[in-house]
Amino acid sequence: MASIGFIGIGNMGAGMAGNLAKAGHAVTVFDLDLEKANAIEGVTVAGSASAAVTGAEVVITMLPAGNAVTSVYRSNVFPHASNGALFIDCSTIDVQTARALAAEAAAQGHAMLDAPVSGGVSGAEAGTLAFMVGGSADGFAQGLPLFEIMGAKAVHCGDAGAGQGVKICNNMMLAIQMISVAEGFVLAEKLGLDPQKLFDVSSAASAQCWSLTTYCPMPGVGPQTSADNGYKPGFAAALMHKDLGLAMEAAQANGAGTPFGQAAFDAYAAMVGRGEADKDFSGIIQTMRD
Ligand code: NAD
Repeated sequence: MASIGFIGIGNMGAGMAGNLAKAGHAVTVFDLDLEKANAIEGVTVAGSASAAVTGAEVVITMLPAGNAVTSVYRSNVFPHASNGALFIDCSTIDVQTARALAAEAAAQGHAMLDAPVSGGVSGAEAGTLAFMVGGSADGFAQGLPLFEIMGAKAVHCGDAGAGQGVKICNNMMLAIQMISVAEGFVLAEKLGLDPQKLFDVSSAASAQCWSLTTYCPMPGVGPQTSADNGYKPGFAAALMHKDLGLAMEAAQANGAGTPFGQAAFDAYAAMVGRGEADKDFSGIIQTMRD
């Protein structure tokens, strides 16, 4: 059993840290909001990020954005970590920062993995997340038993930054597909078509995709989804907007042409601007309608 320092016990981190503790690991947690940390069973609560890291064999972070991750690693993790401790950042951040921090960690003798997740809060609680992991093969092998507790799947995507890269490419494709499905149903509506007929045809034809068959944004057709529940997330529009922003940053920095990704980013910015940041990302159909 490993001693683990876990920093960032928000919506996602709470379930992940709780599952590691349930599996018998010695988990010491820290969050700027200590009340959250006190609510997790079986963990020790530290008074600072530095204290959570001290003596830990593995440090896991689950923070909102790249600036928080950089600040926690530079101020607390690098100066206080034990020799050879493994670092795993599960936050969704930009590829550049993930690569820079991994290089700084390596210079100090630590393997660092970028390991963003998909599966949402319910996946974090149930231990069924999917991990997309960048970093060395040895680091991945060391982290794998922990990924297997917190998740149902872990894919080693390549060197440092590859996990973040795969995550933003996947989510950019997802956003574009969701918008395409939403536009199809909006056009069908304007044509006076029965949405069930469109679903019956398209879900078995060439337009079929996850956003249509599994997560249809049109209420009342297909399996029960967030659309049938007032667009309660699920995966919030704010998070899709954040991930598309990271994808556009990466596209610009690396000279990739992503005009549909840019259009999707603009559409989610509009949805967030309408005060719908907390709605599920499939609620984009309402923005398309208007
Ligand atoms: P959250 O805001 O609920 O949790 C983040 C936590 O980090 C908060 O509790 C905050 O107090 C803490 N924090 C911030 N700065 C800190 C610091 N300097 N030191 C210590 N603690 C600090 O966010 P979340 O929903 O748990 O998401 C975490 C990460 O996971 C994000 O990068 C997000 O993009 C990603 N993600 C979220 C989901 C989801 O469905 N919520 C799904 C996939 C990926």
